[in-house]
Amino acid sequence: MNRTFSIIKPDATKRNITGSINKIIEQNNLVIIAQKRIKLSKEKAEDFYSVHREKPFFQELIQYMTSGPVIIQVLEGDNAVENYRKIMGSTNPENADDGTIRKLYGLNIQENSVHGSDSNENAKIEISYFFDESEIINN
Ligand code: ATP
Ligand code: MG
Repeated sequence: MNRTFSIIKPDATKRNITGSINKIIEQNNLVIIAQKRIKLSKEKAEDFYSVHREKPFFQELIQYMTSGPVIIQVLEGDNAVENYRKIMGSTNPENADDGTIRKLYGLNIQENSVHGSDSNENAKIEISYFFDESEIINN
């Protein structure tokens, strides 16, 4: 059993499809053990995506991630990090496998509906950046 950190991004909250995304998460044996709707500040978005600071798409990415509310989540299940990356699909929805969240709902390489941690180490860092342990209810 392990945990991953998820963000349902502004393109999805704008279209009111967060329930549809949560349904896919749950159908794939991940349990949403914490969830809140927030608006990312510019500072928090920049810090969260700091590995991409030098990329040409960075400013646009920050603009997008702060353009509306996001749902932040802690997901728990077997191989949660790997499992969720698989359910999300490729970064570019055009390349994502059928049935994945990004294939079903992603609009383009930027507005791709979801984020998921890419390693157990980053999952721990990202979860503790957004959630207090007391907000995570797993039993
Ligand atoms: P995430 O980190 O959000 O889970 P990812 O790991 O699949 O997605 P990254 O390479 O870490 O992809 O990129 C982070 C986010 O930056 C992407 O999810 C997407 O929203 C945006 N992004 C990535 N590449 C591009 C690009 N070439 N042009 C515009 N936006 C991009
Ligand atoms: Mg990433």
